[in-house]
Amino acid sequence: MEQISNYVNGQLVAPISGSYLENINPAEGKVYSLLPDSDERDVETAAVAAQSAFQSWSQMPLAKRASILLKIADLIDRDLELLAFSESVDQGKPMKLAESVDIPRASANMRFFATASMHMAAESHLMEGEAINYTTRTPIGVAGCISPWNLPLYLFTWKIAPALASGCTVVAKPSELTPMTAFLFSKLCMEAGLPAGVLNIVHGLGKKVGQAIVEHPVISAISFTGGTVTGKTIAATAAPMFKKLSLELGGKNPNIIFADCDLEEALSTSINSSFSNQGEICLCGSRILVERSLYDRFVSDFVKRTKDLAVGDPLDETTRLGALVSEGHMQKVLSYIELAKQEGGTIACGGERVKVEGRCASGYFVAPTVITGLPQNCRTNQEEIFGPVVTIMPFDAEEEVIAFANSTAYGLSATVWTNNLKRAHRLAHQLKSGIIWINCWLLRDLRTPFGGMKQSGVGREGGWEAMRFFTEAKNVCVKL
Ligand code: NAD
Repeated sequence: MEQISNYVNGQLVAPISGSYLENINPAEGKVYSLLPDSDERDVETAAVAAQSAFQSWSQMPLAKRASILLKIADLIDRDLELLAFSESVDQGKPMKLAESVDIPRASANMRFFATASMHMAAESHLMEGEAINYTTRTPIGVAGCISPWNLPLYLFTWKIAPALASGCTVVAKPSELTPMTAFLFSKLCMEAGLPAGVLNIVHGLGKKVGQAIVEHPVISAISFTGGTVTGKTIAATAAPMFKKLSLELGGKNPNIIFADCDLEEALSTSINSSFSNQGEICLCGSRILVERSLYDRFVSDFVKRTKDLAVGDPLDETTRLGALVSEGHMQKVLSYIELAKQEGGTIACGGERVKVEGRCASGYFVAPTVITGLPQNCRTNQEEIFGPVVTIMPFDAEEEVIAFANSTAYGLSATVWTNNLKRAHRLAHQLKSGIIWINCWLLRDLRTPFGGMKQSGVGREGGWEAMRFFTEAKNVCVKL
């Protein structure tokens, strides 16, 4: 059985404990590889390696540093099929989705930040007749990057690419549920000639490895993507150590549909924004709010299309929804469906585990589920489910839908479907979310800030912000 290694100081190494965890293929419900059960000793070795690599990496000419990162991007593209296959096996997502979205976006992350690093400019401010100020931005040192399981390589590179491009060295931890693509990535880094110690990948559990990264005194910035509860623990640990923190957390995103929208586009995109990656995308629109005059028609068309979505083997070309990431997560999603029934909801379609024939007979599949008839303030409509489950609710007025949309503790993304230009802009300004999509979903320009408001996170990153997060600014004031 394949055994994943840590990547420390430029070498693929076993965990110091010698212990391994089982890595399960969720589509089959079977162990298919082993990953290091690392602990604080592995993090210590990684942090020492990262610290010693810092000086030469941060002082390397920008063009040379960028060329290594660009080479990694090229290698990701070269290995697209293998990486997409591995991500699909690790996480349960349709391989077609990994091939068309996750892996291309991973190489795009590397390329974007590699090239951005060559265009960073420093500011200067003239105090007329008195002084000139100039600002320098230098890499902060060793950064800790911790990523979740839902878009494994995409989010892993989203964390590490700006850190490396800024001149930081990194100790990173992918999710223990989906370690394979980060392992393959470490091999690509070696092939691309990334100097030893610049990136160190320590696999294992959040409470052991993640916590040790957050606590390590040498690591001065933490960039984390994951759940809000974990984010709170990380903030509580890192804040008293005065570490720089970027937290990209959960969401409960509204998808608002006005009667004047282009219905066909709203329907087909809403199917994607509800069920892509089995609904396991932080940006999925899990609360669909429909203007009352369109409500009955929308529900009927949406449910019909949902029933047509093929749930099955992630490696099958025709599959639209694969397996949920783990048995535990599947049980959590199913328990929310039970809760919705207790709260008075009607299951318009789905609502149960799906048994797939053949090799996937023991896999963790859940039917795409549409729930109607729930009030806005019930738990089903307030808590993140993170699965193929959406609720649909009617609204009567603009002010009412804004209040509904803003009623949760989260504020990650929102989508608005309307052909009324003024209304679109009005809503965009009143919705408390880090990104608002008007008549579209999941379009992403890497130059823009990204991240959530409220309990969806702090430290919106993207473009310059992401690069700057990993630097320290210093002002020099020169008397004229
Ligand atoms: P999680 O919080 O359970 O785990 C995320 C990572 O943190 C994993 O690598 C885990 O091992 C590690 N971790 C766990 N406990 C830790 C601790 N005490 N200290 C340090 N690290 C620890 O999240 P998950 O279940 O892997 O991912 C799903 C969540 O991520 C959802 O809530 C989803 O909305 C969110 N998410 C947010 C974004 C975003 O951009 N805002 C993107 C993707 C996913």
